[in-house]
Amino acid sequence: MASILVTGGSGFLGSNLCIRLINEGNKVICVDNNYTGRMKNLASIIDHPNFSFINHDVINPIEIDGSLDEIYHLACPASPPAYQGKAAIMTTKTCVYGAINLLELAKEKNAKILLSSTSEVYGDPLVHPQVESYRGNVNPNGIRACYDEGKRCAESLFFDYYREENVKIKVIRIFNTYGPRMDPKDGRVVSNFICQALRGEDITIYGEGTQTRSFCYVDDLIDAIIKMMKTSDDFVGPVNTGNPGEFTIKELAEKVIAKVGGTSRIVYCDLPKDDPTQRKPDISLANEKLSWKPKIDLDHGLDKTIEYFKSEIMNNRGDK
Ligand code: UDP
Repeated sequence: MASILVTGGSGFLGSNLCIRLINEGNKVICVDNNYTGRMKNLASIIDHPNFSFINHDVINPIEIDGSLDEIYHLACPASPPAYQGKAAIMTTKTCVYGAINLLELAKEKNAKILLSSTSEVYGDPLVHPQVESYRGNVNPNGIRACYDEGKRCAESLFFDYYREENVKIKVIRIFNTYGPRMDPKDGRVVSNFICQALRGEDITIYGEGTQTRSFCYVDDLIDAIIKMMKTSDDFVGPVNTGNPGEFTIKELAEKVIAKVGGTSRIVYCDLPKDDPTQRKPDISLANEKLSWKPKIDLDHGLDKTIEYFKSEIMNNRGDK
């Protein structure tokens, strides 16, 4: 039984990861300040004897009793509406101080540590599909910079702790992911479109809907994260993890409307600043090093996600 710390463990990805790790027989300590995480995501494991929850903001140093084998460092708001505006400075602090605090803990405990970095390190990419060697096209002072540059700095810190302090690191770059345990209020495109369609509201396409994204179902992504942690110590990444199926946002809206039915119409809204025009991972490296590729296509994944949001909305009437 490994002793594992998961930061951001009550969030969308973190909770799916904690549940998988508990089901695989590990001891899991979850750390979250619940800024975007939700305790209800952990309902199925909260009373499990091998699970514990610590309410803590990773901006501050963290002390843990006992030994730790692995740290999955996921903590950070990841949805543009959650990390922009009044949360921007906090987001940079979370990325930077959070990385330092968790790397110091990994060093103290001699634990392996994995960073959930992001496709946002490529900014509005000029190379398509994105390969890990591409250095990106990020606006360093735009409204997405707190997240993009924050994560780039976190990657830099991980590699410096690896080179200077011999900390055992792993870095993955996560592309758009969706599925059960997303917060209906999260503000990202899959959750917005499905919830709007289920409620009979207008579907809000930002811009003309010609921008593309590649959507990975959460179970596939969790497989990739765990496989990455299990690679030998000399393989550190960064590795792209995502589903290379590429869709325009308009295609996504049409798919959701076709699946949910109902009366929703598409409306076109302003495109947020610095919104990337295209995104699709090259996953050759993940395929080679992790023997991984996603198994669940968008149609199948959307069906499962629609079922999840149906029950979320039924159980939280009026909770937008
Ligand atoms: N988007 C949209 N309508 C929404 C929410 C998002 O058209 O209600 C667009 C957004 O402008 C972006 C894409 O969908 O082009 C993906 O947005 P999301 O916030 O899910 O992820 P990210 O921009 O971080 O990839």
